[in-house]
Amino acid sequence: MKVSVIGTGYVGLVSGTCFAEIGHDVTCIDIDPKKIQILEDGKSPIYEPGLEELLQRNIKSNRLKFSTSYDSVKTAKSIFLAVGTPSSDDGSANLNYLKDAALCVAKEMSDGAIIVIKSTVPVGTCEMIRDLVSKNTDKKFHIVNNPEFLKEGTAVDDFMRPDRVVIGHSDQFAADAMSELYAPLVRQGNPIYMMSNLSAEMTKYAANCFLATKISFINEIAKLCDLAGADINEVREGIGSDRRIGSHFLYPGPGYGGSCFPKDVKALMYTAKENGMTLKVVEATEEVNEEQKKRMFEKIMSYYGDVKGKTFTFWGVAFKANTDDIRETSAITMAKELVAAGAKVNYYDPEASDNFEKLMSSLEGMSEGTKRFDNKYDALTNSDGLVTMTEWREFTSPDFEEIKTRLNKAVIFDSRNLYKTEKVLESGFDYFAIGKRISR
Ligand code: NAD
Repeated sequence: MKVSVIGTGYVGLVSGTCFAEIGHDVTCIDIDPKKIQILEDGKSPIYEPGLEELLQRNIKSNRLKFSTSYDSVKTAKSIFLAVGTPSSDDGSANLNYLKDAALCVAKEMSDGAIIVIKSTVPVGTCEMIRDLVSKNTDKKFHIVNNPEFLKEGTAVDDFMRPDRVVIGHSDQFAADAMSELYAPLVRQGNPIYMMSNLSAEMTKYAANCFLATKISFINEIAKLCDLAGADINEVREGIGSDRRIGSHFLYPGPGYGGSCFPKDVKALMYTAKENGMTLKVVEATEEVNEEQKKRMFEKIMSYYGDVKGKTFTFWGVAFKANTDDIRETSAITMAKELVAAGAKVNYYDPEASDNFEKLMSSLEGMSEGTKRFDNKYDALTNSDGLVTMTEWREFTSPDFEEIKTRLNKAVIFDSRNLYKTEKVLESGFDYFAIGKRISR
């Protein structure tokens, strides 16, 4: 099938490349000429395991092309819109990128094309885009909502072997075409759920808000463990083995971040308000998360009392492991809190340092307050504490003797619960984690 994908970010690029890999003829379009140039050179502008190899293979076999022009839309049977839908100031999803892309598509598409909205969009957006496109073309077209559930860090694998595919549609022709497109990815029996566009739009937000709620729930229970003397790891295992609860997504940490959960939680709360109700559970999820982002800062403050003139070392700044994405990462909140309290922050991340450095240099006072290192141990020299922020594998079994030698004071603030308490204490550190019982 001839496919055009609009937007070559985490979702568009992975989707386009994977569609090419299963034999479709794909052109990925982006308004950013720098990105397109990097892609035409066979490089990936984002860090995503396995993506670059796939990209190069499919460029070579001529199934995958890149362009800043919408020309390929003229002959495409399916046109995927995978542009960003960030938060507006009032919390609603900003649909301006989507509308711009849809208008460009309206100018170029042929009769009978299928416009597939893959971006995460609020309930009712498909109908709004249908109206917008109709006003700008005489051609007949179909509208599908196909929310994406891939996770950064395992995006290629998630796309190639989805737990399920959700297709919102309003006519059988579009539903059949989507079934044909996805057929190679669901051979092992993973379901394709066909539903209305409204339900598909809601499904994506409900899924993300549920996952965010799971994180806030376990973070709040971890806080109570801290106060009551229970241990969150024991509790997590105890509840996760119940199949109704499940063991995934029950790890306490520095609060959720990334380009999806924070904005999707806000957008669903906004949709609820538009419909005259309050989503109480989702509101609490966000409130707990905002507090959680500062939890380790509070522990640092109660340990030191005053951090003026001190330096702390972040291991990791990405919002989670295996990605270079720093959007809404808790490392931003932590760095801001520490710098505002008069401390400095050294940081090391295997993939996300470029993005973090760029962001810090755009925020007042943060460029001077933070310093990038390209080696995790060098970042510790003359520092007053190690703070784990991201669960990269390379941080999980460090040389504790080396850490102790480098630090001014042997103390670890472990926001990701990466270390065995006994091991850290035996090695002579003071140790703070999230909800773990630490008895000396
Ligand atoms: P992104 O910000 O990484 O990429 C968006 C891309 O679209 C950018 O490269 C931008 O230049 C391009 N773009 C913007 N306007 C354009 C236009 N008019 N024409 C062509 N290109 C244009 O975004 P992302 O993280 O890939 O997310 C895209 C959508 O998918 C969002 O709605 C997001 O919520 C959703 N989503 C993201 C993830 C994820 O893990 N990142 C997972 C599932 C769903």
